[in-house]
Amino acid sequence: MEPFEKNLDILKSHLNSYLKESKAGNGPVISQKPYEEVIEKLNIENLLNKGTLEENLDSFIQSYLELTTKLHNPRYLGHQVSAPNYFAGLGSLIDGITNNAMAIYEMGPAASAIEYFMIDWLIKKIGWTPAKKLSLQASKDQNHSGGVLMNGGSLGNLTALIVARNAYSEEIAENGCSKDLVVLVPELSHYSLKRAVSMIGIGANNCLSLPSLSNGKIDCDTLPDFIQNLKRKNKKIVALVANACSTAVGLFDDLEKIGTICQKEQIWLHVDGAHGASFLLSRKNRKYLHGIDKADSVIWDAHKMLQTPALCAALLFKNHNHLDQNLSFEASYLVHEKDTPGFDFLTRTVECTKSGIGLKLFMALSALGENGIEKYLDETLIVTNKAYLWLLENKDIEVALEPEANILCFRYKNSCDDQLKIRKKLLSNGSFYISTTMFRDVRWLRIVIINPMTRLSHIKDLIKEIKIIGENLN
Ligand SMILES: *Cc1c(COP(=O)(O)O)cnc(C)c1O
Repeated sequence: MEPFEKNLDILKSHLNSYLKESKAGNGPVISQKPYEEVIEKLNIENLLNKGTLEENLDSFIQSYLELTTKLHNPRYLGHQVSAPNYFAGLGSLIDGITNNAMAIYEMGPAASAIEYFMIDWLIKKIGWTPAKKLSLQASKDQNHSGGVLMNGGSLGNLTALIVARNAYSEEIAENGCSKDLVVLVPELSHYSLKRAVSMIGIGANNCLSLPSLSNGKIDCDTLPDFIQNLKRKNKKIVALVANACSTAVGLFDDLEKIGTICQKEQIWLHVDGAHGASFLLSRKNRKYLHGIDKADSVIWDAHKMLQTPALCAALLFKNHNHLDQNLSFEASYLVHEKDTPGFDFLTRTVECTKSGIGLKLFMALSALGENGIEKYLDETLIVTNKAYLWLLENKDIEVALEPEANILCFRYKNSCDDQLKIRKKLLSNGSFYISTTMFRDVRWLRIVIINPMTRLSHIKDLIKEIKIIGENLN
């Protein structure tokens, strides 16, 4: 047998039992061995020096899989990363082996065509209009929507703000920023936004928090006054960002109201839908995203709620011209007159070599079907809501707020200052993986119901364990 086939067989049997065992909830979700021990267990030094990994693949992959965090375990309630559909995982494998760097069509027609198709598919879900037929960048006269897939929402937020800034004034792209520029973000915005505002030269101090309600949502009633005030001070508002939904507590801003205000004030609206935009695929829950079509740009992570392996994030623009004209550069070895029968994504992203990540998204969605993904999305919210109601009945637990998405924050009451200690003990026990967040100036335990196998019973077991830990603290 060829080595490739032999090794695929080895991978096949290990990955198969890995998925089976993880999904069955066997073994710990998380086990954080110290660095030295991990390097030792994986026999890294030896395998590297001698170049003998291939003949030791069987034992290596066994150890490697043992040392992973098990996202497929239904007791994985940690960060917002999918337990990917295995079929989409095969997409990562195919892309890894073919390595078609498809930023220019000629480097990967299949990958590029799939990305273009999937981008249009997402655009239609937002309620925007894709190009009638394949449109090359040159078609400035059409105002259809357009986008690109990239390596994560953080990069998406950064790219969106670069485009918004350059669209605000061509002058900035040429000569740099003046001191009167500001970007407005929700109080509970993802950290990547403030950093992006700093990175693009507007300055972190000019990333201003919007007025908010006590639950962290943008306060739409005082928003118009807030904007007028800034305008009176001669501030130039480059963009306003709204959450769909917030990372910390999973609430959606009122996109309809905010969109109307931004249109009236002619302010660029960027919707951070990294986590929540996927709920557009749920007829029951897309109400939370009502008004998203009023945005100028949107980010939408597939590696969060679309069961796609990381990374796969969509950056979408209502008017493709903004994207196609505001990231311009010169590179004679890539960009020259040619008669290409497909789309070059090169000018739509800060990446140059670009992997074919659309394949993963396509394989996830086509494995599940639109009905399958809708069922999954709805089920995560049903479980979250059941857990919320059940937690309300628990006198030892304080719940932060009623959830809208599949993110739930709560505290063990008897040891309010010790939520981090509780988490630490929980993770060292290994039976659950959860995160924490700051909200209203205090720390909360935080769970994300993202694994399709998680049920209320798992959350009841989690609370039981938290109570035991809480009672035995100190
Ligand atoms: C996760 C998240 C991001 C960052 O996306 P990455 O893909 O992790 O880079 C940005 N915004 C929100 C609201 C998020 O939940």
